[in-house]
Amino acid sequence: MKRIPVIGIPLDRNSSYLRGPAKGPFSLVEALHCDSANLWSETGHCLDGLLDHRGALGLGDDADAAFAIIEKAAAEAAENGATPIFLGGDHSVTYPLVKGLRRTTGDFAVLHFDAHPDCYHEFEGNPYSHACPFARIMEEGLCTRLVSVGIRTANGHQREQKEKFGMEWLEMRDRPSWPKLAFDTPVYVSVDLDALDPAFAPGVSHHEPGGLPTRDLLDMLHALDAPVIGADIVELNPDRDLNGVTAMTGAKILKEIAGMMLSAGSGREILSF
Ligand code: MN
Ligand code: MN
Repeated sequence: MKRIPVIGIPLDRNSSYLRGPAKGPFSLVEALHCDSANLWSETGHCLDGLLDHRGALGLGDDADAAFAIIEKAAAEAAENGATPIFLGGDHSVTYPLVKGLRRTTGDFAVLHFDAHPDCYHEFEGNPYSHACPFARIMEEGLCTRLVSVGIRTANGHQREQKEKFGMEWLEMRDRPSWPKLAFDTPVYVSVDLDALDPAFAPGVSHHEPGGLPTRDLLDMLHALDAPVIGADIVELNPDRDLNGVTAMTGAKILKEIAGMMLSAGSGREILSF
């Protein structure tokens, strides 16, 4: 039976506002195995014994070395067709993750949930900030297509970057007219938990009102019509969480992504957007 590697990335140095996401992987895994819920996805997959918990990466103090470790971990985790799930950490980790996957995987698109486009050329002098990963990914042509869902903070510079790189955004202000997503390649899913409305996910560093309900994000995952080859769930900041609800929300998203990986290619068309 296919097992899904689950790997923590306790990286915090590229956060721009608050620290805390380095503790995210531990909080999320604790919630995942809390006795209050079972390990079944809504789509009918029991994950008991199918999640291959590999702990958290040791990243050291050197920024370049940390990215190299993350990139290598992604490349190795995806060998033999495995579909890893990575737990951040701040969102900067998505750049080395996608770069690493690209070493062992053919063409894929990135489906990105976030309040923020994360495509600054650089942010406060740091080109590897958690505000920049998708600029780096697009510059290097690491994915065939980038679809960012939940955007509600874009400024002029980021809109220029969107045009420059051909990014696709589903902005919250356009919510009633979003098209149904369809992909003709496999998909890597990157979930920044601040895509959700802070009412649903308060345990993030950047509270941005007007976001997605949890249900909408889950429905979009279930509606995916392409194989999911990997995923990350990032920006959980346990210091800001309330009663662990954001950790549990991250765990729920993990279960549903894992369920989609186990039923690759059989995504159900349950919603039209
Ligand atoms: Mn982000
Ligand atoms: Mn964000």
